[in-house]
This record gives sequence, C-alpha cells and structure tokens, in this order.
Amino acid sequence: MRKILIVGAGQAGLQLALGLQTQGYEVTLMSNRTADEIRAGRVMSTQMMFATALQHERDLKLNFWESQAPRAEGLGVSVAAPGSHDPGPSQRAIDWVGKLDGYAQSVDQRVKMAGWMETFAQRGGQLVIHGAAVSDLDYFARTYDLVLVAAGKGELVSMFGRDAARSPYAEPQRALAVAYVHGLGPRPEHPDFDAVRCNLVPGVGELFVMPTLTTSGRADILFWEGIPGGPLDAFKGIKDPSEHLSLTLELMERFTPWEYARATKVELTDENGTLSGRYAPTVRNPIGRLPSGGLVLGVGDVVVANDPITGQGSNSAGKCAAAYLAAIVEHGDKPFDEEWMQSAFDRYWNTAQHVTKWTNAMLAPPPEHVLNLIGAAGELPPIANRFANGFDDPSDFENFFFDPQKAEQYVSSVAAG
Ligand SMILES: Cc1cc2nc3c(=O)[nH]c(=O)nc-3n(C[C@H](O)[C@H](O)[C@H](O)COP(=O)(O)OP(=O)(O)OC[C@H]3O[C@@H](n4cnc5c(N)ncnc54)[C@H](O)[C@@H]3O)c2cc1C
Repeated sequence: MRKILIVGAGQAGLQLALGLQTQGYEVTLMSNRTADEIRAGRVMSTQMMFATALQHERDLKLNFWESQAPRAEGLGVSVAAPGSHDPGPSQRAIDWVGKLDGYAQSVDQRVKMAGWMETFAQRGGQLVIHGAAVSDLDYFARTYDLVLVAAGKGELVSMFGRDAARSPYAEPQRALAVAYVHGLGPRPEHPDFDAVRCNLVPGVGELFVMPTLTTSGRADILFWEGIPGGPLDAFKGIKDPSEHLSLTLELMERFTPWEYARATKVELTDENGTLSGRYAPTVRNPIGRLPSGGLVLGVGDVVVANDPITGQGSNSAGKCAAAYLAAIVEHGDKPFDEEWMQSAFDRYWNTAQHVTKWTNAMLAPPPEHVLNLIGAAGELPPIANRFANGFDDPSDFENFFFDPQKAEQYVSSVAAG
C-alpha cells in the first residue's frame, strides 16, 4: 500500500486525504490544530463554493452539510455611482442578479474542516496534531512515497519559490474584513431566493454579502475588501468583535446604503465571528526542495493564492485536490518524481490559470469595456446569467470579458436577440 503524507487540514489537504483514503492509500494527515480547536476557533474565510467544486465533494460523498447549508441560487452585482459616497451615502448606478445554473454553498470551514478531520480519523486515517517544520518534512520525505504540503499561506510556503511571471502583484491589493452575523434581512429585489451579492464601490473597494452555514446554523457574512490606504482600510488593530461589527455597518451605511438597509438588526454569530488581514496574491513553483534533497509537492493556497475578491480559493483548493487525486491514482506504482509532480501541477494549472488571470484583473480598476459589460448585464439578463456562472467556470471569461472587441461583439449579439 502506498504511503502518503499530507501536511495541512484545510479544503485542499482534507479533500485529498479523504479521497486517497477511499482509494486504499495509507494516508497520514498532519494538522497544527485539533478538530475541537478548529471548531471553537476564529472564522477563516467566506468559503462560497460553486457547482463544479461542490460536485467534486459529492463525488467523494463528502457533501455532509448540503441539505442544511443555504443555497445561493443567484449572484448579483451592484455598483455605486463613482464619487457618490462623498459626502454620501452612495447612490446605486447598476444593480442586477444573475441566476446560477447550479446553486453555490458556503459551509463555515470551522464546521467542515472539523467534521472532515473527525471522519478521516474514524475511517482509520492517521491524524498527527503537530505544526510541521521543514526539518520534520526532511525526515518524513524518506519514509513516505509522496509528501504533499497543503498548509495554506503559513510559513511552509517559504519552501516554494514565488513564480514572478505568474504573480503580477508583490503587495496585498485589498485589506480584508469579515463579520458573520445573524438577523440579516433578504434583498428586497429577490426575497424568494438567496444570492451572493457583490457591491462595487469604484476607487474604494467591494462589499460581499452571502449566506453560510456556521456553528450556530444559518447566518450571513458581511465581507469588506478595501483598497489599501483608503477609507475601508480601517480594521487594522481592532480586537473587539463588536467594534469590528460597528465599523462594518458604519461603512455599509455610507458606501452601500442599500445593503445597510437590511442589516440594521444584525448581531455577530459568536465572539470568533470576525476576521481581518491582507496578503499578496502569489503563484508559487509547485515543487519544494528539502535540505537533504527530497521533494515535496504543494497543494491549494500553497501554490496558487489569489485574492478572495472573486471567491475562488476554496473552489480552487477543491479543484486542485481533485486533479492531484486523479494524477496520483493514474500513476499507479511508479515513483512520484519531479516530472510527475510538475505534470500534476500543470493539470491543475489548466483551470487555475483562468482563475488567476480573472482575479488579478478584478483587482485593477475596471477598463471601459468591462464597465459597459457589467452595465449591459442590468438590461440583458443572459449577460447577467453568464457573468454569474463565470464564478463557477472562470475559463469562460476568455470568451467575452478580457478583450474589448469580444466584449462588444458579445453584448451586441445578445442585444440583437
Ligand atoms: C477573507 C477571506 C474570504 C474568502 N472567501 C472565499 C470564498 O468565498 N470562496 C472561496 O472559494 N475562497 C475564499 N477564500 C479563500 C479560501 O479560504 C482559501 O483559498 C482556502 O481555504 C485554501 O484552502 P487550503 O486548504 O489550500 O488552505 P487553508 O484553508 O489555509 O488550510 C491550511 C491548513 O493547514 C494548517 N497549517 C498551516 N501550517 C501548518 C503546519 N506547519 N503544519 C500543520 N498544519 C499547518 C492551517 O492551520 C490550515 O488548517 C477566502 C479567503 C479569505 C481570507
């Protein structure tokens, strides 16, 4: 039986560990926290996942919370009229909702990772609670057929060189601030279904609002992404969760009053229901070299960490785990050498490259043709629907989003019926 070590119990590490376990591999999973610590800890993400990524979980029968988690059937975009926040409140220039072909769901990673970790152990997997250092990996690389590093954006990424050609930004492009709340009302435009709501405030940042399943049941997430140095970059140093929520709401009242209107009665889900921080989006070389010459393969955020502005990281982590699982199984008993590691990553990069290109584009001020496209989606529902479904399969943006001529032709063809 082939022995595989996975370091890191997030979306990437756990999905892959559970998948390999089902295929009969002897898997050791190393996590720096126990399931109880994860469950009782701080929120980590907004983790909205779209149809393709959710299907990978279904294929492995890991969709334990599908019937309880709220279903986001749409994805909507609102754009504030530029400058209208000064003195404010902002006015809305664009507002539409597109329908997703398959629903999206967010299950709080505290619920999902804790639950998956317990399942892994119950199914006989070897779970080691230990924060792995490079020296540990150096030792273990000799005793396992394959070592995979799925430790997110933690210190172990230092083993994987930054791929400068694929990483246009050296600095964080947004300051992130998340609050999990109970008591949010529905959007009056579509009270009968949930949607991921993206609110763009030109020159300032974005507010994302979405439903989730958390440790206390259904909740909603208020997630500000602020351009560094701007008015939304105001959460640094705030430790008190109620102060974090007050600031979130104050900014909503000024910059997105249409979202604030349904948030006047919200309360935090729990003391650990807030998160703030920032990181530079980075693509890394997938193969890490250990001091004694052994090789390890990076998974998920270790190799491709995009800004959460497009809500893709968990989706990508799941797609990476699915691509690697197939590559490992297909490789049979052959050695997991450098060539195989590179080919496994290249298989994942086939999809990840589209996510990275689109996400990095969304961090920059939108060019005129993109503004026209988003505006046209308000008049022409097929454009809104196609844009919404791009969150599931970002490769489609190649066909109508990046190139001004293609965007124009697409809008004209839809307008012509
Ligand atoms: C504010 C915010 C909002 C987001 N919203 C979305 C969204 O809506 N949709 C979406 O798809 N993505 C979203 N993401 C991105 C998504 O959360 C990540 O991309 C995803 O969690 C990556 O999964 P991963 O398994 O690669 O890494 P992680 O989830 O970071 O998991 C890594 C695990 O490894 C552990 N670890 C770290 N170092 C060690 C060590 N040395 N030894 C042992 N264990 C270790 C960590 O504790 C952690 O449990 C968001 C991210 C943020 C920050």
